[in-house]
Amino acid sequence: MEDNFSFDEFMKEPIELFGYECGDGWLPLIEEAKKLVDEWNESHENGLSTWGGEKLQFVQVKEKWGELCIYLNFYPDHIFEKLLELSERSHHICEECGSTENVKIQDTHGWFMALCPKCREKEMKRLEAFHHEKYEPITTTKFEVEFELPNIEENKNENN
Ligand SMILES: [Zn+2]
Repeated sequence: MEDNFSFDEFMKEPIELFGYECGDGWLPLIEEAKKLVDEWNESHENGLSTWGGEKLQFVQVKEKWGELCIYLNFYPDHIFEKLLELSERSHHICEECGSTENVKIQDTHGWFMALCPKCREKEMKRLEAFHHEKYEPITTTKFEVEFELPNIEENKNENN
């Protein structure tokens, strides 16, 4: 246990471990947020932050309930408001392809995603294939039952 334990790894933020946890369709929104973060850091170079001189940075970027959630290590007022606005805008942008046409929040078996009609169809097909794979063991059981049937027929013939 101790040999494998890395404090550096333990201290890593989700963004360092997982990157952006959402589809590429939202990258332009994330870039807008990144620009604000960079600008803020440039104008607060001499440790003038409200958080002990720490640089403003991303902690986690992910999709939650069909919307873009951006977490920072602290939130200057105007940036907090901008992040809320980006979350709101993400409802209307397809998370997969970035299309803004007919985007709806889709329940994909308990996982909510903002998707355009084309990506919705693709996602539902993918889920169907996944469920087909998941329930394959049922086919095996059915096979066993079918296998026993000829024996019953044989018994009948013997009795006649
Ligand atoms: Zn799409």
